[in-house]
Amino acid sequence: MYDVVIVGAGPAGLNAALVLGRCSRKVLVCDNGHPRNEASHAMHGYLTRDGMPPLEFLRLAREELKPYTTVTLRDVTVVDARCENNRFLTTLETGETVESRKLLIATGVRDKVPRIEGIDELYGRSVFHCPYCDGWEVRDEPFAVYGKGEKGYGLSLELTAWSSDILLCTDGPSELTEPQIERLSRNGIVVEEERVVRLEGTDGVLHRIVFEGRDPDARRALFFTTGQHQQSALATALGCELNDKGTVHTGKYETTHLRGLFVVGDASHAVQWVVIAAAEGAEAAFAINTDLIKENLK
Ligand SMILES: Cc1cc2nc3c(=O)[nH]c(=O)nc-3n(C[C@H](O)[C@H](O)[C@H](O)COP(=O)(O)OP(=O)(O)OC[C@H]3O[C@@H](n4cnc5c(N)ncnc54)[C@H](O)[C@@H]3O)c2cc1C
Repeated sequence: MYDVVIVGAGPAGLNAALVLGRCSRKVLVCDNGHPRNEASHAMHGYLTRDGMPPLEFLRLAREELKPYTTVTLRDVTVVDARCENNRFLTTLETGETVESRKLLIATGVRDKVPRIEGIDELYGRSVFHCPYCDGWEVRDEPFAVYGKGEKGYGLSLELTAWSSDILLCTDGPSELTEPQIERLSRNGIVVEEERVVRLEGTDGVLHRIVFEGRDPDARRALFFTTGQHQQSALATALGCELNDKGTVHTGKYETTHLRGLFVVGDASHAVQWVVIAAAEGAEAAFAINTDLIKENLK
């Protein structure tokens, strides 16, 4: 039996594995190779690693786990998990079931990338969702925001920290209130309700947005706000509730309603950055090890 099964080897799961490995805990980490930022070419906002390709960051993290021989990494999808008699039974796609005392879910989220022609070639290079991650590189350039209603409104105002030239593309009725439209206008943000036909660019650099009923508009970056969903259904299958944003509400040390179950990283409720995912993994690992010590003491 494992002390801990970790599902997800992004920054959250791997940092948890590192801390637990250093506690000599027997850990199995399962991952199916699709971190949220796989489309990005450079990760920002993580001290000493600013600008590093995200997949290189993960490769280094896996390398650092090698001395910790009680930690096993497997490239495999977890298809189910349940809790019986204070033990977790985790089912892999191979049909195997592994047993553990604790279960840590670090399976992240997926972004609902808008289905616009040309977006896939630009995603992660000129098309982003997070200005803290990618705003600096395109600061002061002409921005587009893709989103409507409260979300498009909020992101447009937020982006004024990075550019004074912002076009809010709502791709149909804006769903904005009059006071919202007035505030956007006061802050120099133009609202465009025309249908977006496609994005044009070369080598990952956005050049223009083509609209249905008007001339194209030259833009250098597009930030979208169209939602996200959990990358796996494991947390909800174990009874975790999701908040409005679609993430799991966790308590102190990333605990959940179920004793021994922890949810960390983007899958849980806090700010969704690599440095925070890694920190949450470390924090949960501390709590898990503390619990295991107490349970083992005579
Ligand atoms: C385009 C883009 C750019 C970004 N840029 C930055 C940036 O510059 N700086 C920053 O701080 N953040 C950035 N982010 C956010 C960052 O990607 C996340 O905060 C971070 O990846 C969260 O780490 P995590 O470990 O929680 O989840 P993830 O990194 O998403 O890892 C989850 C892992 O779980 C695995 N998994 C899921 N389900 C299963 C299953 N059933 N079985 C087995 N494995 C499973 C996945 O394959 C994946 O490897 C960016 C995101 C995007 C989309």
